[in-house]
Amino acid sequence: MNIHKSIKNLLSIEESIKSKILSKKIPQIIAVSKTFPLADIFPLIKHGHINYGENKAQEAISKWGEIKKTLPKIKLHMIGKIQTNKVKYVVSLFDYIHTLDNIRLAEKIANEQIKQNKKLKIFIQINIGDEKQKNGIDIDNLYSFHKQCTKDFKLEISGIMCIPPINLDRQNYYIQMSKLKDILGVQELSMGMSDDYLVAVKNNSTYLRIGSKIFGQRG
Ligand SMILES: *Cc1c(COP(=O)(O)O)cnc(C)c1O
Repeated sequence: MNIHKSIKNLLSIEESIKSKILSKKIPQIIAVSKTFPLADIFPLIKHGHINYGENKAQEAISKWGEIKKTLPKIKLHMIGKIQTNKVKYVVSLFDYIHTLDNIRLAEKIANEQIKQNKKLKIFIQINIGDEKQKNGIDIDNLYSFHKQCTKDFKLEISGIMCIPPINLDRQNYYIQMSKLKDILGVQELSMGMSDDYLVAVKNNSTYLRIGSKIFGQRG
């Protein structure tokens, strides 16, 4: 049998991770399938892979809306910027949100979850490199933001997420994330992409978001 390229890639990523894991917790691999059509994702689904990441609500609905009803095991992760007018679609389709980065969005998600009687697992996105153009909560505001999300809006905050600055040593950012996770008392760390997932694994990442290394370069 011919093994599909994406499966080969996934298996080799899993193999490379094994030697780097310090804790007992094996990180989940989110196959970031944004821009790829279902036809390219199917081999991985058939292989039994569960976690997939998308960054646009519209694209995710047209791609996953129907198929997800027939595949209840699949978990969808929202990893892109969420417009507040898209929240109802995001809550209805996705299982995880990795990009909660403002209070208005937190409130919208909370209201929508009540309406839909659904509770997503949510990550607070942190602007770990303190970059002007990047989304995410500043470290200084993290504690109060987290408290508002959990106490006022009753959101299930599973962990924190970051996209570190490019072209800089990622290690320091990931060490900092791991410390913030412990300070906040949350369980999960969403960090590490195709080019730095092993650095993330060494620093206790529990959700890796890997796209091109699995599916190939995006067009
Ligand atoms: C696209 C994307 C990824 C995956 O990037 P690759 O470099 O292809 O692995 C991970 N996280 C976020 C937030 C993304 O938008």
